[in-house]
Amino acid sequence: MNLILLGPPGAGKGTQAERLVEEYGLVQLSTGEMLRQEIKAGSEIGNEAKKLMDAGQLVPDDMIIGLISSRMDGEELAKGIILDGFPRTTAQAEALDAMLSEKGQVMDHVIQIDVDEDAIVERICGRFSCAECGAGYHDTFLKPAEEGVCDKCGNTELVRRTDDNEETVRSRLVAYRLQTAPILPYYEKNGSLTTVDGNRPMEEVLDEIKGVIAAG
Ligand code: AMP
Repeated sequence: MNLILLGPPGAGKGTQAERLVEEYGLVQLSTGEMLRQEIKAGSEIGNEAKKLMDAGQLVPDDMIIGLISSRMDGEELAKGIILDGFPRTTAQAEALDAMLSEKGQVMDHVIQIDVDEDAIVERICGRFSCAECGAGYHDTFLKPAEEGVCDKCGNTELVRRTDDNEETVRSRLVAYRLQTAPILPYYEKNGSLTTVDGNRPMEEVLDEIKGVIAAG
């Protein structure tokens, strides 16, 4: 099974993807995470991407398509993939279709997680994570039991993404509206799109996504 999680920044795509990986043994391919790894490694791609990411803009299609295609080999597709943060433009959606059909595969579900824009800034600006194990936290909604200490691994280095500030989030929302939302009709037309209400507790959203998958 292959699926895409679509939705604005802060919709909970990454969190849901992690849970679905546990549930179905899929391979999670997150282009944002791949780019952050490139930045950490100090690569040329990372340096170029960082400026755009910090400005809340999308990185060029050819760069992203190159990154994702290098991760979609037989092994990943044999397990099934869950795409989080890709595709974000019509050109990316078309390239994805071409990559899948070349391997005799299809996209089974495209799930849009819909969230009110008002809630997004608060969600994103309050979030942080453990630098060691990646566990996610929030200033208001999910504080660690002991301040400054990761509940899961005990690490004390808790970090925030440099693009998780209000000004950048507003630009990321504009990019979503102008460049990513226009791909929704593309998936609506081929019948693979389902929209779930992401303005609810994470477990409820997860249950609804599992229901969509179970219905086939
Ligand atoms: P994310 O972790 O999905 O929120 O992505 C963080 C940032 O990485 C985005 O704001 C973009 O600058 C960049 N990015 C991630 N995925 C893509 C993509 N598919 N196309 C273009 N830019 C992307």
